[in-house]
Amino acid sequence: MKTFYIETFGCQMNAHDSEKVVGTLLGQGYSQVATPEEAELVFYNTCSIRDKAEQKVFHRLDQFKRNGQGKTFAVLGCVAQQEGEKIFEKAPHVSLVCGSASYNKLPELLVQLETGNRRVTGLSLDTDLTFETPLTRRDTPHRAYITIIEGCDKSCAYCVVPFTRGPERSRTSASVIAEASELARSGYSEIQLLGQNVNSYRDPSPAGWNFARLLDQVGRVEGIRRVRFTTSHPRDFVKEIIDAIDTNPALCNHVHLPAQSGSSRVLDSMQRLYTREQYMERIAWMKAAKRPIAITTDIIVGFPGETEADFEATLALMEEVEYDSMFSFKYSRRPNTAALRLEDQIPEEEKSRRLTIVQEKQRAIQIRRNAAYLGVVEECLVEGFNQATGQWIGRTSQNKTLNFVRRGEEDLRGRYVEARVTRAGPNSLAGECVN
Ligand code: SAM
Ligand code: SF4
Repeated sequence: MKTFYIETFGCQMNAHDSEKVVGTLLGQGYSQVATPEEAELVFYNTCSIRDKAEQKVFHRLDQFKRNGQGKTFAVLGCVAQQEGEKIFEKAPHVSLVCGSASYNKLPELLVQLETGNRRVTGLSLDTDLTFETPLTRRDTPHRAYITIIEGCDKSCAYCVVPFTRGPERSRTSASVIAEASELARSGYSEIQLLGQNVNSYRDPSPAGWNFARLLDQVGRVEGIRRVRFTTSHPRDFVKEIIDAIDTNPALCNHVHLPAQSGSSRVLDSMQRLYTREQYMERIAWMKAAKRPIAITTDIIVGFPGETEADFEATLALMEEVEYDSMFSFKYSRRPNTAALRLEDQIPEEEKSRRLTIVQEKQRAIQIRRNAAYLGVVEECLVEGFNQATGQWIGRTSQNKTLNFVRRGEEDLRGRYVEARVTRAGPNSLAGECVN
């Protein structure tokens, strides 16, 4: 039996790709081990969204430069696609380099490795296929991911994704519904639909469903109690999505809608394809929804040419929307991207200063917003138990963590219970079970 170890960096798309890769490897007769030391084959599924993320895989590979004899190293994902065969020069002990658009070919590439090929690559981006496999080995027992669309056809000036994940391609609605039904039959009650721009989904089959229709239909699959989706692109965010949330209680009341900046001037230079006003129109739809929708976002500070006034516009946007949570980043220069050619790069210290201001402001907003939940009863899906605090770990429909206490020995994992919020911090809520 051949053994493998896999480590995953980056986003949920990568995490789920790894679940599919693990399933494929198990299907080929490999067995998974918990450490790289025990493994014959070592896989890194990589992220190159920012420079720091990219460097991680090379640090890992460096550790095995001298003592990696007898092992085979494979680099998958975005760094693999971006650096291609250059990886063999930087890390000569690597034997397989494969981008996500070529995962369909993995079984074939593994055979090539086994038959003694020292350098094997899967780097073509020229595909209209998505990576579908019945063999997915899922990491979580109650929530399951389903990729509905891969790649990206936008060209944001800072972003490497269109170069690393290839053109946009959607799965048929029938295959998505079939996967959701199968998951429900095997006990999953929460589905998370994934895509770089999940709401750009377009059904390639004659049924021709748009994203809102697919979302609604997944929420109607018997046994599915919650449906989430990420990430939505503001340009393709239509009112129908909010109408679907309004009419279908299985659709979670949470939307992640990356703004990137609050300045229309910066958004234009980022080639984001929307203005601040158009973004705020989408926020207004959410705020007018029947259930209170939690809104979360991504912000980049220090994009080339971002003035103090532009930065203030981002702070004002945060104040206006009052996000429930946020990922914020310093702009990082990425290979091949249009922003490399922009003048007026912002110095590193200034980017750090702006990031600190954004993060402090967001913390204050979260304290304020979460305090509004005191006394409120929320339904939670129980994800685990924290031995140290004696609390169950629950997740609300709005994607907030609610840690709660409950008398009795019963194992609540995977169950839906109601809990009243008695304490609120910036990052989580705490309370007690009421049923
Ligand atoms: N497709 C999604 C969208 O359009 O909003 C985002 C996907 S991207 C994988 C996740 C986040 O990484 C982005 O929303 C952005 O905030 C951040 N990001 C991407 N490129 C970046 C860069 N060069 N520097 C800093 N942050 C970056
Ligand atoms: Fe990157 Fe823009 Fe595509 Fe999102 S929409 S993945 S930020 S290029």
